Amino acid sequence: MVFDPMIDGGHEQVSYFSDTETGLRAIVAVHDTTLGPGLGGTRILDYDTEERALEDVLRLSKAMTYKAAAADLDLGGGKAVIVGDPDEITDEALFEAYGRAVDCLAGRYITSVDVNSGVDDMDVVARTTDHVVGTSDGLGDPSPITAHGVFHGIRACLEAVYGTETVADREIVVQGLGKVGRTLAADLAARGADVAVSDVDEAAVAAFADEHDAETVPPEAVYDRDCDVFAPCAVGGVVNDETVDRLECDIVAGAANNVLAERRHATALRERGILYAPGYVINAGGLITVAAEHFGGAREDAYEDAAAIGDRLLGLIERADERGTTVLEAADAYAEERLEGAESTTLAQP
Ligand code: NAD
Repeated sequence: MVFDPMIDGGHEQVSYFSDTETGLRAIVAVHDTTLGPGLGGTRILDYDTEERALEDVLRLSKAMTYKAAAADLDLGGGKAVIVGDPDEITDEALFEAYGRAVDCLAGRYITSVDVNSGVDDMDVVARTTDHVVGTSDGLGDPSPITAHGVFHGIRACLEAVYGTETVADREIVVQGLGKVGRTLAADLAARGADVAVSDVDEAAVAAFADEHDAETVPPEAVYDRDCDVFAPCAVGGVVNDETVDRLECDIVAGAANNVLAERRHATALRERGILYAPGYVINAGGLITVAAEHFGGAREDAYEDAAAIGDRLLGLIERADERGTTVLEAADAYAEERLEGAESTTLAQP
């Protein structure tokens, strides 16, 4: 049952790889190469069933097509899953075998890091394929660049809502002080924003509050907090049936993937007069970084491209206003227009 979901999702290619010597079991999905090779990370997870693994790789690879298209990158969408317990998937021979699997796709798919795969793993993958980014020879940790893009995205939202992009004196709640959230919160505080921070890791919150003289919000109180911007930078699904009516902000704009539990929550936010910046548009700094690496750019180029997320998002907000849609719908439509406007539509050459 692979063709039906492929046809439904518009996927070009799904490849299954098994290596009996190392126990590698991997699925690579290339969603769309109209704009360029499908780029996306390798997720290592102990899926309950093979169907779940397929479902995940199809969903994630399609999301990468939209993310790359909406970021004006000449890249398509791809993703891979390695099936197994991440604690047991450590054998270098397995990652070398995986690299050979990626290599036989001849550049239609470019891999990178994702959940449970890291830079060290990609270094091993790079022994057997050139079609890998996010190695230690690459442009380094994308998180600060992701934060930079989110910062500019927030400024665009402020411009759209208040007519000025200045962050000074704006009340901004940052949920999650991980690699992205703490850089974002620090940048906002440095520019005079009234930052409040929240994390389940109490020590991280206390350390940040100390250093930046920031307010703190207990994790469960974050959704009731009156503020201008709620910036989710922790986990997905935080805007859901339970929280959507509690939010007391004008803008939801943060780095987290899949902020909305379901797409309909974008409409629910719009109906409440809350501007929602689609996660895949505002958090594209990570993809922009590995794209720069793939195209031979420098880290400074990635910072510059990530800053352009602000203008891109503002354009999408304007389109959404004109068409009376959510920004999410405007972003999807923009990505689809790019795909339709490109020369070839399926099985394009990398
Ligand atoms: P991270 O793992 O470094 O940090 C996540 C932080 O969130 C941790 O400090 C954790 O304690 C905290 N957290 C977890 N659950 C929480 C909760 N319920 N309430 C409050 N805090 C909670 O992750 P990161 O790299 O900073 O990424 C943050 C988000 O942005 C993720 O959703 C990630 O998928 C997304 N993202 C990251 C990048 C990147 O470049 N790192 C790029 C695109 C998207």
